[in-house]
Amino acid sequence: MRILIVEDDRLLGEGILAGLGQAGFLPDWVQDGAVGLAALQSEPFSAVVLDLGLPRLSGLDVLRQLRATQNAIPVLILTARDTSQDVIAGLDAGADDYMVKPFDLGELAARLRALVRRAAGSTAPLLEHGALQLDPAARSVRWQGTAVELAPREFALLHELLLNAGRVLTRAQLESKLYPWGEEVESNALEVHIHHLRKKLAPELIRTVRGVGYMVPRD
Ligand code: CA
Repeated sequence: MRILIVEDDRLLGEGILAGLGQAGFLPDWVQDGAVGLAALQSEPFSAVVLDLGLPRLSGLDVLRQLRATQNAIPVLILTARDTSQDVIAGLDAGADDYMVKPFDLGELAARLRALVRRAAGSTAPLLEHGALQLDPAARSVRWQGTAVELAPREFALLHELLLNAGRVLTRAQLESKLYPWGEEVESNALEVHIHHLRKKLAPELIRTVRGVGYMVPRD
């Protein structure tokens, strides 16, 4: 799933980008608040890691503008040490969680998984659907009790479909959720991933809605 990082510290931004990538997220990184807000208003990120002290538009202003436009994206704010006033202001402005710098990247990844899970209305860490079980933390999938190896993009695609079970996702929606900026999307890439998922799991798991997109029916 795509995560936007808004952080003006180059070293920290690069570190979070690499760490979240290794944890299986599809992260993008911007370095000022105005660009961050524009990106959040135009692309389907699953959550945002938001620094508070940012050029052009502060993290708090980004957050307030998001919430003022009913944008409910999960927001995790990053604050410097000893600034509990910032934490209070951030949470009161609509942030869902926070971390104090310096922080552990593994913990950041776990908190993001929890935020995304809650935003999808699920309390269980495992996503279950009939004979299918998907573990976002371990990035593993079991079908009828047997572990199934999925390529990273297949896993991300299946995860999005399960989080939206019962809803049709258009091709454009799926592509925009699967590909960070600057990655070329082959025209038939999505079909190929869907084909592999059906073959590795079950043909009937993913339904094609002709002319619209794809869906996993509700369990
Ligand atoms: Ca900063």
